[in-house]
Amino acid sequence: MPNYFSIRRSDPPEERISISDRGTDALMNILLLAASELAETESQKRMTVWLAEHDRKRGRGTMGFCIAEMPWAAESFAADKRFLVAVTDAASQQTGWEKLDYRPNSDALMPMLRWFRKAFFRLQPADVNPHALESWLADMEPDDPALNGYPRCPRHGIYLSWCGCQICNS
Ligand SMILES: [Zn+2]
Repeated sequence: MPNYFSIRRSDPPEERISISDRGTDALMNILLLAASELAETESQKRMTVWLAEHDRKRGRGTMGFCIAEMPWAAESFAADKRFLVAVTDAASQQTGWEKLDYRPNSDALMPMLRWFRKAFFRLQPADVNPHALESWLADMEPDDPALNGYPRCPRHGIYLSWCGCQICNS
């Protein structure tokens, strides 16, 4: 089953990227290693936890998503966009890969990272779902890691979501 990623929900199919299940697991592993290393602000930690929820094994089924549906906050839009571009660069530079017990297929992952880098770069404030952050927070259980100090996996160092550690799970 491919997983589909796009900038906006309304984007035509040729602008989406489709990634296999195994590719999606590895892509999320390396994005989370980089994001957990780089996240400094509350909104950047939230973005990282949101990504971690897209855990194909434990999370919400098919794991594609639209970048416009991430929990963007108007006041930190530009900084968070720069953060996510930097996350794709850090993932390309294999940040944290030594924590994995396998060797990610760099040749296969690089085109995906390039797609995400460009997509984050191209995203405009008008593309964003203005209610995504509010409704995501409203749906959280009180014990959600994002409401409890952003705990990390002791083994992999990445932020946990309600699914647990995406790397342990995959
Ligand atoms: Zn882990």
